[in-house]
Amino acid sequence: MIERLKGLAKKHGIVVFITPMLDNEGYADVKDGRKYVFINANLSIPKQEYILCHELGHLILKHDEFSTIYHNFGKRHLEHEADTFAISQLLMNYLEETPEEYWNYNNFMEHHQIENRFEFVVKEDIKDFCLGKEIT
Ligand SMILES: [Zn+2]
Repeated sequence: MIERLKGLAKKHGIVVFITPMLDNEGYADVKDGRKYVFINANLSIPKQEYILCHELGHLILKHDEFSTIYHNFGKRHLEHEADTFAISQLLMNYLEETPEEYWNYNNFMEHHQIENRFEFVVKEDIKDFCLGKEIT
């Protein structure tokens, strides 16, 4: 598991459980003011990393405060926001750990099993990174 992600969860007081006892890929929850993320241990490690980032995104971007909206018309928007959050976190790690001559957005997307519809998001993030901007 990527160290950066453990640090990110810890910094936001989020407790992470990786367990084979889930019937979905993972989810985030807030109970009595405590924040949790559950991840399905049966997924590949790179996929677990993606799901963890996505669920951390929901909590860090405070999506739970929009729960009424979430269940009505905002679900797709919030899911997209959590996905772009996940992509930028994983991509920052990838670009920092990989020598520049080996950068390849396809390899990155395949590694974390990121859906093709996010290709544009990945390319934009790489462009921003190259321009020295902070990825948002
Ligand atoms: Zn989600």
